[in-house]
Amino acid sequence: MQKIGMKTPLVEMDGDEMTRVIWQMIKDDLLLPYIDLKTEYYDLGLPKRDETNDQITIEAAEATKRLGVAVKCATITPNAARVEEYSLHGLYKSPNATIRAALDGTVFRAPILVSGIDPYVRTWKKPIIMARHAYGDVYKNVEHRVEGPGKAELVFTSADGSEARQTIHDFDGPGIVQGLHNTDASIEGFARACFTYALDQKMDLWFSTKDTISKTYDGNFKAIFERLYETEFKDRFDAAGLEYFYTLIDDAVARVIRSEGGFVWALKNYDGDVMSDMMATAFGSLAMMTSVLVSPDGIYEYEAAHGTVQRHYYKHLEGETTSTNSVATIFAWTGGLRKRGELDEIPELVRFADLLEEATLETIESGKMTGDLALITTLDQVEKLDTEGFILAIRDRLEEKLGV
Ligand code: NAP
Ligand code: MG
Repeated sequence: MQKIGMKTPLVEMDGDEMTRVIWQMIKDDLLLPYIDLKTEYYDLGLPKRDETNDQITIEAAEATKRLGVAVKCATITPNAARVEEYSLHGLYKSPNATIRAALDGTVFRAPILVSGIDPYVRTWKKPIIMARHAYGDVYKNVEHRVEGPGKAELVFTSADGSEARQTIHDFDGPGIVQGLHNTDASIEGFARACFTYALDQKMDLWFSTKDTISKTYDGNFKAIFERLYETEFKDRFDAAGLEYFYTLIDDAVARVIRSEGGFVWALKNYDGDVMSDMMATAFGSLAMMTSVLVSPDGIYEYEAAHGTVQRHYYKHLEGETTSTNSVATIFAWTGGLRKRGELDEIPELVRFADLLEEATLETIESGKMTGDLALITTLDQVEKLDTEGFILAIRDRLEEKLGV
């Protein structure tokens, strides 16, 4: 078969541990034989980040802004143990946080549905896509431990010097105080990304906060979504037969469980953090979840939702057989290739991405899967494959589909 050509390169961000091993297997077994793969390669593996004082991450983010589409492998976020393990020169920020800050994006996470891996919630028939605001709130907090009696105040000094002052609490003993913030610009970017993504996916959009309790803070989120909907998106939603629906977070949680799925659920930063792990598990597995960061000006970065699967990597280094699920990483590649194909008008590339996804899902449906799925599948005939065995089984199916 003639290899599929590309025009603009993808930004390729390599990563760490078991996912780095899988990354190479996917390229060697599933991509390079069929595509004249064009990428601008950035090694975000921890040794290279350390060698470049993390400049490589910033360069990768800049390249993403320039080229528009990136694919990222899972990476280690260093902690004290990693500083020792890799003899690091610093405690570098999470690459995801650096890239998110550069793109000011929203993270969309969607379950990969396949028959034989049933959601724990019986009513769910269609995916629920989580949209998590990736800026501010408790992730940029300021905290204070109160050791004894005293008054905590909220003071805002405006640029002209005038002051607004409120008492938070008169403490008569020890306690705690926390300060949070967000900006209208970031919330508006989040809202625009959610409305645009819902239209793109042809799905309703739900948004939920706790504005009955947090009337100003969460009320501001609610108001910005409403204003943007009324002024910029209502006509397009009406034309597409779609709905924008706001409700309280506790009501939303109850409705989500009773729903059939099939909508985008926008959540504030913390709600999105907690809910996306719960939803991934409820749909089956974190290894069966896609994740894409979308910037307000339409830049896309695709990755897996899980980490570097450290425990499996240590087994791999010991020479033991591993059975690590590569589906989310394969879907990161297909997401990036499909988007590149759409933007550059290369229908064969879009079709290749579709076929590779189909081949992946059909391989699982035929009973061939990795250990994590073998544990939870409802299929009777199951063949548990090792890490590369699973990828090669996908390749067999892909070749049938491609007719090679
Ligand atoms: P993890 O890599 O997501 O793995 C946690 C556990 O989940 C694994 O030990 C494994 O369970 C299971 N698992 C996750 N992905 C799997 C897959 N593809 N196939 C099979 N099983 C899978 O989380 P972690 O071990 O807590 O974190 C490891 C490193 O990843 C950390 O250094 C962290 O900083 C980093 N991380 C990176 C990202 C990212 O780059 N997006 C996200 C999260 C974490 P069993 O061991 O029971 O088989
Ligand atoms: Mg989390």
